[in-house]
Amino acid sequence: MKKSVDLELVATTKRYGTTTAVDAIDHKFGAATYSCLLGPSGCGKSSTLRMIAGHEYVSEGDILLGDENITDLPPAKRGTAMMFQNYALFPHISVIDNVAFSLRMQGVNREARHRRAKDLLELVDMSDFADRLPDQLSGGQQQRVALARALITEPTVLLLDEPLSALDPFLRIKMRLELKRLQRELGISFVHVTHSQDEALALADEIIVMNGGVIEQAGAPRSIFNAPRTEFVARFIGGHNVIDDAGKQIAIRADKLAVTKEDLSNSERPASVRDIEYLGSSVNLTLSTPALGDLTAALPDQTFFNDPIEIGATVFLSWKAEDAHNLAA
Ligand code: ADP
Repeated sequence: MKKSVDLELVATTKRYGTTTAVDAIDHKFGAATYSCLLGPSGCGKSSTLRMIAGHEYVSEGDILLGDENITDLPPAKRGTAMMFQNYALFPHISVIDNVAFSLRMQGVNREARHRRAKDLLELVDMSDFADRLPDQLSGGQQQRVALARALITEPTVLLLDEPLSALDPFLRIKMRLELKRLQRELGISFVHVTHSQDEALALADEIIVMNGGVIEQAGAPRSIFNAPRTEFVARFIGGHNVIDDAGKQIAIRADKLAVTKEDLSNSERPASVRDIEYLGSSVNLTLSTPALGDLTAALPDQTFFNDPIEIGATVFLSWKAEDAHNLAA
C-alpha cells in the first residue's frame, strides 16, 4: 500500500445551480486517520465526498492530496477510491472479477489481476466466495467484496458513503469494527460519511460535524461529545441539555446533571419528574423546570435504584461549573 498523506480541502465549494451545497470549507484530514463526516440529511456530506472522489466537479477551491493538487484529476488518477452505499457490484460477473475490475480497465492480464484480487479477498475474509455472483451473497458479504474492489487500486484515501446503512443493526456493529480494523491495518486514511452519531463516535479518530454546507465543529469524538461548541452540535450529537442559564447558553450532558430529593447545594433549581425510562445501565428522567424548560437527566441504574424517584416527585438539579460548556451564538 502507498504511504499515507494528508488530504486537504481549501475553500472547497459545491454549487448546484443556485444551491450552495458546500460553502468554502477548509479542512485537513490527517494521514492514516479515520475521519467521519457527520451531519443531518442535506448538509453537504455526500457532495464533499464526491468532490474528493472526483465524481462531482468542484465549483471553487482546491483539493490537495499530499503535494499534489487533485482538484481536476479524473477519479482513477487521484489516489482515492470510493465505496458506495449500495456497493454497486456488477451483478453478472463473479466476485473475483468484480474485485479485479479496475485492474482489467488498466489492461492488467487475467492471471496477474486474479492473483491480486485473491489477496484482497483474503484481506476481507472472502476467499471462499471468489466464484459466486453478487446476488448469492448476504449484505455483509457484498460489502466486503465492495471493500476489496475499492482497495485493489491501492488508494491513499478510501471514501465511504454511508457504508453501513444497508445492514441490519447487528451486522452494522460487526462491520463497523471490521472497517476500523482494516483502516488500522492498512495504515491509509478512511473518510466515512454518516448521519449516525453512534457510528461516528465509535469509529472516528476525528469527527467533522457539518450543517448547512459548512463545518460546525471538527475534533476527536470525545471533545465533540464533551464540549460541543454550538447549539447545533450539542443537539445533533445527543445526550445533552441545552440551557439558557441566566442569559448564557450552555450545554450540559444528561449524565452530568445531579438530581437530588433535597436542595443540597442550594441551587434553587426545582424540577418535577415527568417521565422515567429504564435503559439498562442507566435510567433517564424527563424533568420539567419552571425556569429552564424540559431537561433530561441520565442516572446510573445503581444510583437510581438505591433511592428510587417517582413520577410527579419534586427534585433539585445541580451541576458542576466545569461540566457546563458555553455555546457560541
Ligand atoms: P448530504 O449528503 O449531507 O445529505 P448532499 O451533499 O447530498 O447532502 O446535498 C447537499 C445539498 O445539495 C442538498 O440541499 C441537496 O438537495 C443538494 N444537492 C445534492 N445533489 C444535488 C444535485 N445533483 N443537484 C442539485 N442539488 C443537489
